[in-house]
Amino acid sequence: MKKIFALAAVMAFAVGCGRTGTVAAVFKGTTPATSATKDQRWISFHCPACGRAAADGAKTCANKECAAKLTWPADYPCGYCAGSGDCPTCKMMSQDGNKCYNCGGSGTMALGTVGSVPIGRTLPCPNCKDNPGLCPTCKTQKGKCDFCKGGGKVDVATLKTKTEAPTEEKKPEAPPEKQPEKAPAEKPPEKK
Ligand SMILES: [Zn+2]
Ligand SMILES: [Zn+2]
Ligand SMILES: [Zn+2]
Ligand SMILES: [Zn+2]
Repeated sequence: MKKIFALAAVMAFAVGCGRTGTVAAVFKGTTPATSATKDQRWISFHCPACGRAAADGAKTCANKECAAKLTWPADYPCGYCAGSGDCPTCKMMSQDGNKCYNCGGSGTMALGTVGSVPIGRTLPCPNCKDNPGLCPTCKTQKGKCDFCKGGGKVDVATLKTKTEAPTEEKKPEAPPEKQPEKAPAEKPPEKK
């Protein structure tokens, strides 16, 4: 028991009572998994002791009760790929070698079928029409996380340019807009 209490005390000192710490970066939103999904990613910085939002470059927490001394690291592990540098879409959709999950890398889709027989017409895959056959997130960056460019880390200056919340999140009272259904791109990936 004594050991547990001692450890808890040390941790409290490091974060809370110590009144000093590394500014926490919270990676909001997720990597859009299809070309039809809007990018809603943004970053917020917080005091590690009390959680109050930390203004750009602030050296002291704005919460007077807390007044923790804040330090800003040069970079943060990328929150969208958990520091792995791997494309989250490729992982989530189990995309084999950066191929678009929607069309399997062909860049086209059969327009219709009669029974189970395709009637022969094809159209460009809506999920990868800008880079036919490729993952809509990493595109020609083969399997690399688009946010950290595959490095697994993002420098703090870059993160500070992305602290603006998407307008949708600022107006929670507005009813959500109806998204027109883009059937092929929104279908879940087929299990192999
Ligand atoms: Zn604080
Ligand atoms: Zn990808
Ligand atoms: Zn495709
Ligand atoms: Zn990343």
